Parts: sequence; C-alpha cells; structure tokens
Amino acid sequence: MGSQDDFEYALKSNESWANYKSHQNPGLFEKLANGQSPKILWIGCSDSRVPETTILGLHPGDVFVHRNVANIISPTDINSQAVIEYAVVHLKVSHIVVCGHSACGGCGAALSDARVGGVIDAWITPLKALRKQNEEELKAIRDEKKRAVRLAEMNVKSGVESLLSTYFIEEAVRERGLKVHGCVYDVACGRMTDLKCGNAGKKGVAGVKEDETEIVKGNHGMLVFGGDGASMTIR
Ligand SMILES: [Zn+2]
Repeated sequence: MGSQDDFEYALKSNESWANYKSHQNPGLFEKLANGQSPKILWIGCSDSRVPETTILGLHPGDVFVHRNVANIISPTDINSQAVIEYAVVHLKVSHIVVCGHSACGGCGAALSDARVGGVIDAWITPLKALRKQNEEELKAIRDEKKRAVRLAEMNVKSGVESLLSTYFIEEAVRERGLKVHGCVYDVACGRMTDLKCGNAGKKGVAGVKEDETEIVKGNHGMLVFGGDGASMTIR
C-alpha cells in the first residue's frame, strides 16, 4: 500500500469514526465545540503503539497531551514546558501521567553505542546520562528487552522528579492537590503499570489525601486514581 492510499484510507476512516461517535454519543462533538476541561495531562512517547486516549479507553476532550521521542522531560524544552504549564496553570488538570513503554526505540538507542545520526543523538542525551549513572544495574540485566524497560522506568522516574521540582507544579500540589504519576505501558499486552514514583498517595505530601479516589470513566474501561496509585479496569 502506497502512502497516498494510506492517507485516503485514514480520511475515510475518520469520516466513519465521526459518524460512529455521533451515533454512539449524540452530544459529544457539540460539547467539545464549547471548550475542554480535561482532568489528565499525559506525557508519553511519540511511539505509534502508545496512543494515550485509545489505551486509556477515554474520549476526545479527556486527555491533554504532550508526546515526544522517549517521553523526555527537560525544563529547558519550551515545547513540553508550554504544554505542561498550560495544562496545570490554565486547564487545572488533576493528574499528570508520565508514561514510558516497553520496546521504546529511544531507550534502545540510548543503550546502544551506535549513533542514530541527526538531531536524535542530542535529544536522547538525558537517556544516555541515565544509562551511565546506572551502568552497573543495567549491565546486570542480561535480557536486552528487560534492560530497555528498566531504562524506560528510570526515565519516567526522572521525569516525575523534574515535574515535582517545577515551581508551578509545586504550587498546584500544595494548593489544590495535583497528583503526578509515573507509569510504564507494555506494548505486548496493552497494560499500564503504576511505578508509584509520583506524589499520589504518599503520606506527608501537602494537598494529597491518602484515601482519596477519583475515577475517570471511558467507554471501554475506567481509570481509577486512588491511594494505591493508578489502575485500569476493563468493562
Ligand atoms: Zn518510545
């Protein structure tokens, strides 16, 4: 199939999807035309296998999104910082989910000694630094796939720490109980695991109640944010 055919297919598919959604939920697009009030900011990888709204079983309007190669969060990257600031300060999301994934090309490249070329090598420098800081632990993992997942976990944790050190996020945590979660998604089974490296459910964190539970419902499943972290239930 050529690329033009793929695009034509995508356009036709969009038309069917819009018709199906209107039929299934008649008020959806009218409501969306009047604005957005998403509860979740998702920071994930650009990888085609991790489409956040789909894997969460949610709808347009439910998730504000920033995705980049290997979900790297850098305080000097104006692109991601603008998205994060808008979501936290203006949309006042209740949750930030940083999600890495298995079989991530960015993590694989950072674990290899070969150059990718172009701008990618510079972009994944933070991953390479993480690899060097944790060389011993990573080298001890003999399975290449598992090693890449471990680096993805370390990267998520580092992203969560960076977010929790950002002044407007510290403020939102203190003033209205914003929760930051770190997760890893398994592309081989479609499940997300909460790494529990954020501030949700931790004692002594201002603005966060340990037994507070919030449910974000989708059509095919629901995401439960509770004291034990985030979990996904399929209906
Ligand atoms: Zn990736």
